[in-house]
Amino acid sequence: MRPEALNPLFAEVETLEGVGPKLLKPLERLGLTRVKDVAYHLPERFVSRRTIADLDEGTEGEQVIIALTAVEHRAPRPGSRGPHRVLAQDAVGNICALTWFGKAAYSAKKLLPVGELRWVAGRLDRYGDMLQIVHPDHIEVDSAGQMARLSEPVYRLAEGLTQPRVAGLVEQALARLPDLPEWIEPGQLERSGWPAWGAALQLAQECTDERARDRLAYDELLANSLALLLVKAEGRRRRGQALVGDGRLRGKLQLPFALTGAQVRSIAEIEGDMAQEAPMLRLLQGDVGAGKTVVALNAMLIAVEAGRQAALLAPTEILARQHYETLRRMLGPTGVEIALLTGRAKGRERESILMGLMDGSIQLLVGTHSIFQDTVAYRDLGLAVVDEQHRFGVAQRLALAGKGRRAPHTLAMTATPIPRSLTLAQYGEMDVSRLDELPPGRQAIDTRVIPQERMDEVVEGVARHLAGGQQAYWVCPMVNDSEVADIAAAEARYATLKERFGDDVVLVHGQLRPEIKDAAMERFASGQAKLLVATTVIEVGVDVPSATLMVIEQAERFGLAQLHQLRGRVGRGAEKSTCLLLRGGALTETGRARLALMRETQDGFRIAEEDLELRGGGELLGTRQSGEAAFRIANLDQVQRLLPVAHADARLLVDRDGGLTSERGEAARLLLYLFERDWGVQLLRGG
Ligand code: ADP
Ligand code: MG
Repeated sequence: MRPEALNPLFAEVETLEGVGPKLLKPLERLGLTRVKDVAYHLPERFVSRRTIADLDEGTEGEQVIIALTAVEHRAPRPGSRGPHRVLAQDAVGNICALTWFGKAAYSAKKLLPVGELRWVAGRLDRYGDMLQIVHPDHIEVDSAGQMARLSEPVYRLAEGLTQPRVAGLVEQALARLPDLPEWIEPGQLERSGWPAWGAALQLAQECTDERARDRLAYDELLANSLALLLVKAEGRRRRGQALVGDGRLRGKLQLPFALTGAQVRSIAEIEGDMAQEAPMLRLLQGDVGAGKTVVALNAMLIAVEAGRQAALLAPTEILARQHYETLRRMLGPTGVEIALLTGRAKGRERESILMGLMDGSIQLLVGTHSIFQDTVAYRDLGLAVVDEQHRFGVAQRLALAGKGRRAPHTLAMTATPIPRSLTLAQYGEMDVSRLDELPPGRQAIDTRVIPQERMDEVVEGVARHLAGGQQAYWVCPMVNDSEVADIAAAEARYATLKERFGDDVVLVHGQLRPEIKDAAMERFASGQAKLLVATTVIEVGVDVPSATLMVIEQAERFGLAQLHQLRGRVGRGAEKSTCLLLRGGALTETGRARLALMRETQDGFRIAEEDLELRGGGELLGTRQSGEAAFRIANLDQVQRLLPVAHADARLLVDRDGGLTSERGEAARLLLYLFERDWGVQLLRGG
């Protein structure tokens, strides 16, 4: 049970004044569903403005506050998509434009009546030979209101929200902060000069305060380390089952290839773990195409040979299906019963799978998160394999682990190359096996960086490629805050490519109904369709060996790990493969270096390490929007600086007070709930 002291923080965001149905959607898109999320919605930066008497005083790009009088409104022609412009005059007669796009324009008339003076805050930009302010931040009748806005936080927004709206909500949320006891070790607090929790939140919302930010990040890292350590400790306490296979099923496999040295080594490590009574907690790290599936298959067969069941959890429906087909093919000669269970299995089909799992006639199960549901009971689950583990939390892993009569062994697999310094943060103290050797015969993927303006040539290149009887992927980026806008962009690209290639093109993105998505994937996998246009949904796992060309639009917008994974979709067959990274106009120095690195190497681990170097701090683990990030508050720089300290501190606490019953232990429980690592607490007796 969550401690009562935290209730005000976990109250729904609707309990804040002014939040109605209209605001809920954009707030949810930002992940702000409870009061605490709003309090922790920290400004991305602060803007400092300068008051200027007239436009001659201001410079392009500067944030200013200025008194202006509207002279004329120029509304767009009806039906056209042009902006709404207001021409306005400063104190000495200079004219500038105030510009609104889209729906925001409706407010312009009311805010700026012709002939009346208003105080306007915003960024001066050039428009032709005139200055303009696009979407002014504030417009007020008197100057006093504006003077309060000389320094102001800038928040990440979603469509339908404005800066003042968010600032108002943050203020309300901060007013509700309860008094909480200190969970950070006093010596640590003093050494770092950190403020107390509530004060740190206030400060971080008000100004650039590194200490406050660090403290908040440290809280999150401490919560994470603590929870992972509690899980580990619990794993040691809980009895597992020693599983020793006799090799009779593995001996029947007829693989068309010999295992690589790295595969053999990993299988041996897994076999060694499973033979122990303590439940295995192992991470199998291997680049895309390194051959993780067959390693998982061997692990699962060990469980079946020992008379138990095994389950494989995939992050998406498409991948679950593909794993199921692959495994079923490989299992052919063994006679092992395998089933597929996804959210879409309904009625009798579902019933029969559930029965089979309960009576043990189904030995292997492949599925999506639905295999966690309480209605799914196994006769005797011996091994849980989780593919692309970063998409799931440890919490879900535990839900699955809770299903066996005794704790099952767990094998997590990931193709995301994580720098060594971050493995701890993402996975805690798991044992790691690395597939650092690709199967033989893989060709290097010819990677080229091409300016986006040369689109026509690229399309011609794709045409030649398809004419030669091969297939290709075309990836459109997810770039805006709004998924809808990204999908609109992908749809538009699909439309133009369809004009050129007709029915040879299919489109896949996250908003399509599953049947439609699967049908499109199926047409591509079977070779009926030649070109797959997709948003990043194809990121993980999809395996179509005859697809040998990958085009990635606006490649600079992707993380390198993501580019690496996308590129790994090609180069899977015997044919030579190519990857075209299209880049937008203005690249930063770092952007250039990052794309050059992609061209230079195909070693995922090296890409991960060097990307970390290149970006330095600032950028977050994974992508925040997709909910994959391990941390919401701590940035990369803070993870590197503070995680080792937090981890050591958490270890000390667990060693001294594993039940979290001391005064500090009690405070630490609050921390775990606050950061929703309460699965850590729930393992504690009486927790
Ligand atoms: P990933 O690690 O990305 O999950 P997969 O398990 O899907 O990789 O394997 C990628 C491809 O490599 C598959 O077509 C698989 O059959 C093949 N493969 C796996 N191991 C070997 C091997 N030792 N030799 C040759 N091909 C292999
Ligand atoms: Mg895989």
